[in-house]
Amino acid sequence: MKFYRSTRGGAAVGAPEAILAGIAPDGGLYTPEEFPAIDLNALSGASALAISSEILYQLLGDFSREEMETIVRQGYAGKFATEELTPLLQVGNQYVLELFHGPTSAFKDVALSILPRLLSASREKMGVREEIVILTATSGDTGKAALEGFRDVPGTRIAVFYPHGGVSDVQYRQMATQEGANVRVCAVRGNFDDAQTGVKRIFADDRKNHWAAAKKAVLSSANSINLGRLAPQVAYYFKAYLDLVRRGAIAMGETINFAVPTGNFGDILAGEFARRMGLPVEKLICASNRNNVLTDFIRTGIYDRRRAFYKTASPSMDILVSSNLERYLYLAGGGDAALVSNLMQALESEGVYRAPESLMQEMRAHFLAGSADDAAAFRAIAEVWEKEGYLLDPHTAVAWSVAQACGDNGKKTVVLSTASPYKFSRDVLTALGAPAEDGFQAMDALFARTGIPIPRNLADLRALPILHRDVVEKDRMLSYVKEAVL
Ligand SMILES: *Cc1c(COP(=O)(O)O)cnc(C)c1O
Repeated sequence: MKFYRSTRGGAAVGAPEAILAGIAPDGGLYTPEEFPAIDLNALSGASALAISSEILYQLLGDFSREEMETIVRQGYAGKFATEELTPLLQVGNQYVLELFHGPTSAFKDVALSILPRLLSASREKMGVREEIVILTATSGDTGKAALEGFRDVPGTRIAVFYPHGGVSDVQYRQMATQEGANVRVCAVRGNFDDAQTGVKRIFADDRKNHWAAAKKAVLSSANSINLGRLAPQVAYYFKAYLDLVRRGAIAMGETINFAVPTGNFGDILAGEFARRMGLPVEKLICASNRNNVLTDFIRTGIYDRRRAFYKTASPSMDILVSSNLERYLYLAGGGDAALVSNLMQALESEGVYRAPESLMQEMRAHFLAGSADDAAAFRAIAEVWEKEGYLLDPHTAVAWSVAQACGDNGKKTVVLSTASPYKFSRDVLTALGAPAEDGFQAMDALFARTGIPIPRNLADLRALPILHRDVVEKDRMLSYVKEAVL
């Protein structure tokens, strides 16, 4: 059994309990007490699925190798466009790790394909009888990835709420055409904040009135603070490294850099987990868009959320509070839960904290940071397309641009690519200097211009029947859940 502790203190729990709970009772995030050492030589030659199940087996404990192999196989089988799951490509003088070949063409699929199976297996291990009901508010992307992940997973049900008229054509069709016997999709008359507030109120109401238990259900969420969403992301760092060794691009043991387009600090934290499990990492490059709160933090040690919020062309990185940074503070601070509690309290009450210099020195030993605004990202998209014939999405372009700006430290760099350019066709077209068009027209225009195939799941959307037409007022979400979901 491996142990996980809340970043804010308290008793250690096993992985199944941590995954079922999501967030710890004290508001902290479950973090490993120690990391297993991975034998890289034993993994060389292993398939992507085998690497994934071995890393999850070693990191989580409590599940047998066989159980983990089944979870991984069932989670990914038939859902990813390639058996490689996350292919590595050489592009110019860098490498690009494509994480977007899952059912929704964004990197969240890698984790959200596995989380539902981990939840379901954890439920059985803990002897929980109730059905797990996932409630998620989405501004567009996470909702679809969660729907795909949870559809028809035994012991689970999912309802996704999105702002009525507030998502793109493509995002609307992605959700409204969702199949699966255990899914509900509902538009809310309001904006994303209304939908999110509505979901929070539902959780709070159930904590007080316990109506879910009466219907043999427990409410849960699929957001990125769940250990079960973080753990599956560790595997692709190992896979990318082993791919480079296999190609003779690096020698076994040589260190490399990873450049990561960062929002909530989940993806890059998985890279830190990999480093702590023995992966030879030189630097983790934390790339932000114009919302550069993390860049400032890594440079100054001051985390200050009291600043303007910008809407950018990389919306999944438009975040001012990177929740998974809390886990890093805990690890880099040597497991000092009192310190983390104090910093998090300061962030909540004053909107700012300063981390101790010793912690920042540890962080700077392993991280570089930089930010790229939309103009810089668009320049990267145009340049890489013209020079290399490779098309970056706006999130990946931020990481590419920051990696270039960090300069050459004599090590190979892998840029993590988090979305298909076709998810952001309009902005990618703009970057290429073409007239902006919307929705499916933009997709067609981008294809006409580049000849790069449109991912099947996006191309097929137009022909799929609309299956979900529910719309509720924002103050009717609770009764919708009670009547239509449970
Ligand atoms: C969520 C997301 C990110 C940011 O990942 P974090 O784990 O939140 O740092 C980057 N790019 C895309 C396309 C995403 O969907």
